[in-house]
Amino acid sequence: MVYFVGAGPGAPDLITVRGQSYLSQADVVIYAGSLVNPRLLEETKKGCQIHNSAVMTLEEVIQVMEQAEKERKMTVRLHTGDPCLYGAVREQMDMLDRRHIPYEVCPGVSSFGAAAAALEMEYTLPSVSQSVVITRMAGRTPVPDRESIASFAAHRSTMVIFLSAGMLDRLSAELTEGGYDPDTPAAIVYKASWPQEKTAVCTVGTLRERAEELGIRKTALIIVGDAVSQRNYDRSKLYDPGFTTEYRKGSD
Ligand code: SAH
Repeated sequence: MVYFVGAGPGAPDLITVRGQSYLSQADVVIYAGSLVNPRLLEETKKGCQIHNSAVMTLEEVIQVMEQAEKERKMTVRLHTGDPCLYGAVREQMDMLDRRHIPYEVCPGVSSFGAAAAALEMEYTLPSVSQSVVITRMAGRTPVPDRESIASFAAHRSTMVIFLSAGMLDRLSAELTEGGYDPDTPAAIVYKASWPQEKTAVCTVGTLRERAEELGIRKTALIIVGDAVSQRNYDRSKLYDPGFTTEYRKGSD
């Protein structure tokens, strides 16, 4: 059996209890060495075989899983954050399906949650934004044309932009072209939940400048939208004294 496990954003105690339990039982671990905190590997049992997928191809990863399966061993494939975002898990699952190797997915804390925590921020503020767009700039992996940054920017909802810290001039230009004013609040969160974590609040127009000042070129998320200011929102209806809900009678 193969377990795809979300390792969380970095801090070793931000893996889930279930993920940690799988990790401690695994005979083989294949971890994404570029972003998974190696301290998590200290949780593995004695004799556990450890592979760093940063230096492996998809075929090599599958070969390790296949060999482990033949030996009736348990494999954990450890992905950064939650495996469902930019995790390249589908291609692995398809290859396992073809080989009739069973697998299960254990979710994790994505870096977009850890970034909000670092900023003490709520992405969905009443009357400011009730939607979060998770996206990225096109890099070596293309993004479909209909999903351009400018097209999402036109909604002026909260945006969380992955994998784009190295192209902030272009990001600012596309955000502005799409509809955000250059003065719109934005934030940069580097290595959320790691000891090296850095955060900065700036504007859409000053993203590159701020990132340069802090020496950030990768492993960062960019958060954009009026919600970043955490101001000018309406109180929730749910906790309004005058509002009746299924659980509470309001005063009105
Ligand atoms: N599945 C992961 C994302 C993998 S893509 C998740 O759910 O978080 C890798 C990108 O995620 C990085 O380039 C960066 O943009 C972002 N990222 C991952 N960990 C991060 C962290 N701790 N702090 C900030 N950004 C992070």
